[in-house]
Amino acid sequence: MPQEKPNPFSEWLLLLREQAPIWRERFENWLDECKEEPRLFWETPAFRYTTYSIGGIGLLWIVFSAANIIAPPLPVSARPRATTADFHVVCENADCAKHYVVHRELGFNAFPVQCPRCKEETGKKAKQCFSPSCDGCWVPPEQIGGMQKCPNCGDAL
Ligand SMILES: [Zn+2]
Ligand SMILES: [Zn+2]
Repeated sequence: MPQEKPNPFSEWLLLLREQAPIWRERFENWLDECKEEPRLFWETPAFRYTTYSIGGIGLLWIVFSAANIIAPPLPVSARPRATTADFHVVCENADCAKHYVVHRELGFNAFPVQCPRCKEETGKKAKQCFSPSCDGCWVPPEQIGGMQKCPNCGDAL
């Protein structure tokens, strides 16, 4: 006859099932005693320590909240400055003309960059043109006579 392996979990469960009525009875007795003598609530260590713990956590929370009010988070000027930035890029390839944003070191100027759509090295640093016809669209500026001009409307940028 094969010996069945003892399962520690089922044994533990069995033990718990045996113990449960005893604990329930003890709890009910305690509750009854407390109903007759409310002072007993406070004299039960478990109940007292729970109250202390909740009170302690509440007190800590109040102290931390007060500390936050007294010493607010660092002002923007005291935080480390950003070392990278977003650069708007427009593909100079007329068939593509994709507008996208690259994230690079501050002062980055190694344009043109590769265009993610047509894969050509035609991504030029873009500027916004605010002429009435362009209405804030991003364009690759054209260098004309020492001035940067919009390739769409010819306005100076
Ligand atoms: Zn492109
Ligand atoms: Zn324009």
